[in-house]
Amino acid sequence: MEPKVFVTRLLPEEAMNQIYSFCEAAVWDGELPPPREVLLENLRDIEGLLCLLTDTIDAAVFDSAPRLRVVSNCAVGYDNVDVLEATRRGIIVGNTPGVLTETTADFTFALMMAAARRITEGEKAVRAGKWKTWGPMLFLGQDVHNSTLGIVGLGRIGEAVARRAKGFGMKLLYYSRTKHGELEKELGLQFVEFKELLTSSDFITLHTNLTSETKHMIGREEFSKMKNTCVLVNTSRGPIVDQIALYEALRDRGIAFAALDVTEPEPLPADHPLLTLDNLIVTPHIASASVATRTKMALMAAENLIAGLKGEILPYPVNPEVLRKR
Ligand code: NAP
Repeated sequence: MEPKVFVTRLLPEEAMNQIYSFCEAAVWDGELPPPREVLLENLRDIEGLLCLLTDTIDAAVFDSAPRLRVVSNCAVGYDNVDVLEATRRGIIVGNTPGVLTETTADFTFALMMAAARRITEGEKAVRAGKWKTWGPMLFLGQDVHNSTLGIVGLGRIGEAVARRAKGFGMKLLYYSRTKHGELEKELGLQFVEFKELLTSSDFITLHTNLTSETKHMIGREEFSKMKNTCVLVNTSRGPIVDQIALYEALRDRGIAFAALDVTEPEPLPADHPLLTLDNLIVTPHIASASVATRTKMALMAAENLIAGLKGEILPYPVNPEVLRKR
């Protein structure tokens, strides 16, 4: 008998075909994530769960799914999954690292450029009929080339952003959990303490994963250290920035601009104070959203799911110790 799985959103066809070829799959095909009660109701007989970052996978989910063996998260970040609890219960978890690195770095750079050169403000003014003439002082922004970029979290995406920034002649500072000596040499990166990164950077870009340590890593104190011309870019996870502090810093021009692909919560309610500011760009968590990358991510998630159901080591495991224990 084919193993039963639940897929929490319709994925690109190639990935769905792979899943259907091996499993009996129930698929939530709504545009929004399945409501919590629907998710819990659908888990009773399943052995595999393919979920997205919009699904909270915690002890209550595991309680509702007594036969669950594998959780395949279609994202590189897995802060939505209680991995410790999964490991404790012998449930293997997979993610999709690497495949979205370049696409996410492209988008990070796009946000940085758009913020620096005030592209969204200018575009809105043109559409609103407010553009009267070429003006010597019209929408003056900041140069990206030859400026100083501070990278927080030099993992896969942080490194890919550094490679792009090198091409723009930027001075590259980074702060990360560990020092990356080889990369420092190759890309001319300089490791600095967090405080120095905050005070010295013209642009700051966040690329850590979300953990209890990185939650609200950027708050009032950190904003107070930044240059008032600083541009903050966040394509990592919303809760890494304290949004009340961000609102105050932008409103009081403590920093110049922020460009966010991720927020807390997602989506931001339409009446959120941040959305009243003109020195902010917000996009709907689309940094990895290219056709090719989203297809590859879904295929990786399908591969993880199927390997987990077969009792094999996942190609992209988060907690491989589960199988070793088994
Ligand atoms: P990664 O390779 O694991 O990089 C994360 C880096 O964060 C690690 O290299 C680690 O540094 C650093 N880090 C962790 N805790 C830290 C701390 N307390 N202080 C300083 N640095 C810390 O992951 P990735 O593939 O680059 O992805 C990064 C994150 O981006 C993901 O977790 C995900 O949440 C987010 N993301 C978002 C999108 C989007 O659509 N917006 C797309 C892809 C990814 P060391 O190596 O120095 O230990």
